[in-house]
Amino acid sequence: IDQTKSPYYKEAIRKLKEVFQLDDFRQNQLKAINATLDAKDAFVLMPTGGGKSLCYQLPAVCTGGKTKGLTVVVSPLIALMNDQVHHLQAKGIDVVSFNSDQGAEGARVSRARLTGSGKRPDILYVTPERLDKSTDLRSILGRLYKQRELARFVIDEAHCVSTWGRDFRDSYQSLKSLRLEYPGIPIMALTATANEQVMNDVIDQLGICGCEMIMQSFNRPNLFYDVRPKLKNVINDIASFIQLHKGQTGVIYCLSRNKCEEVAKELRDKYKLKAKHYHAQMSPEDKHKTQAAWQSGECEIIVATIAFGMGIDKAVRYVIHHSLPMSMDGYYQETGRAGRDGKDAKCILYYTYADTKILYKLIKDSEKTSEEEKERQLEGVRAVVKYCQNDVDCRRVQVLRYFGQGFDPRECHKACNNCLDEREQKTEDMTTAAKSLLNLVQALGRKERMTKVQCLDVFRGANVKTIRDKGYDSNPYFGAGAKLSREHAERLIDQLLVLDALREECFTNRSGWNNSYVQVGGFRSSLTLSPHSLS
Ligand code: ADP
Repeated sequence: IDQTKSPYYKEAIRKLKEVFQLDDFRQNQLKAINATLDAKDAFVLMPTGGGKSLCYQLPAVCTGGKTKGLTVVVSPLIALMNDQVHHLQAKGIDVVSFNSDQGAEGARVSRARLTGSGKRPDILYVTPERLDKSTDLRSILGRLYKQRELARFVIDEAHCVSTWGRDFRDSYQSLKSLRLEYPGIPIMALTATANEQVMNDVIDQLGICGCEMIMQSFNRPNLFYDVRPKLKNVINDIASFIQLHKGQTGVIYCLSRNKCEEVAKELRDKYKLKAKHYHAQMSPEDKHKTQAAWQSGECEIIVATIAFGMGIDKAVRYVIHHSLPMSMDGYYQETGRAGRDGKDAKCILYYTYADTKILYKLIKDSEKTSEEEKERQLEGVRAVVKYCQNDVDCRRVQVLRYFGQGFDPRECHKACNNCLDEREQKTEDMTTAAKSLLNLVQALGRKERMTKVQCLDVFRGANVKTIRDKGYDSNPYFGAGAKLSREHAERLIDQLLVLDALREECFTNRSGWNNSYVQVGGFRSSLTLSPHSLS
């Protein structure tokens, strides 16, 4: 269907030019706008940077839709919200917000605007927590509803509704009641993160079955995907990369705030680079200063935890993962912050299997998470490890497969390290070695537990005192992998861990180091190993 034939098109294109100062709609934007102006529910799946905001900001300032009045936008991150509010106000759009950042006076002003006799704002931004907890706000919305002054609800980052998603949030649960409380008010759900399971769950939870499905390819043709081994001198590697990209803006993601501070400091002190750290534990003033410095160009590199990035409007030329992302969704979103302007950008992930230990520990130690959720998060990490270890298949094919989309690797045009790598792919069948390794672990006594390093040594038949002391050299599979190099044997173990044929049980030893025991995992039957990932 030609979306420009819709009765809403004329006003939409005029407002696009006049209010947003843009020339054309991007893919799917008009479709989403038409749907919501026609009072239909819509599910919008668009990759990060695709232009989701316009899909609801533009209808909010249109007067010709079937439902009129206030557009309520539920958005989880206050930084993103404040950013958008400022942008909209600068365009002369009448917008108010409710969030925990604004203080009593700010809330009072917003409330007065929504209840007073003057002209009503077009958009209300609210955090899910506020919408959930503030009875006051709910009664205001109830009144607007009765007066037919409620145009639509918009659920940004809608994957947070689903417990299958990586960012599940309790406060999003209350959104399930919107359909019941405000029947007839269209709901628009937007996300950049959805596999089919998450998508169906979100639609189900929000009660918007039969909604318009507005989806597009997740391929980001202008991004170059690169996975590199993380060696001791990773910081040196990162610094040389940055020096090759002088004057360009980039984001480096680390797992902990300490690491962010350490990496930023080293880049500044040792390599004289314009780097600053950013993480959730910083004071609002410090965050603001850092963001401002970044926006102005005084700072070129932000070293951040995942707290940074959503909705930050700046042309990022590279995104570097200093350590493993938590999930493929996370990887896609974080890398997706590069090249939002459509120009070429690079995404580099530094991978070492050792980093999974940090992630596993983080997941294990988080108190609020249920066992089921922890298992899902572990699964998420395994997916990333699998991606990193697969150095054969086109990275795009792998990423898009994760999101449930097929992709022809020829379309990658050598824009990933695997497609670029022309070395002959030698594959080797490792099934026999893998079986011995599993049997070796299985053969341990009931009370015996061995660490990964011990397992490696026993497998390769190393003549080491600790192994002899423990009597491991009498294991029937001692030395079964003697022909493999240490590196090769380690990859085999890693791959078996990824496949859940082996499992790790993490512990902290007496000197405070994180270590882990290997055990036989859950995945035992029909073990098929992809030979090339073991090559
Ligand atoms: P998302 O929320 O999907 O990640 P945004 O809504 O933040 O993406 O938009 C990303 C960038 O694209 C913003 O800088 C925005 O101004 C720009 N943009 C959105 N729609 C258009 C358009 N139709 N034409 C040009 N630029 C656009």
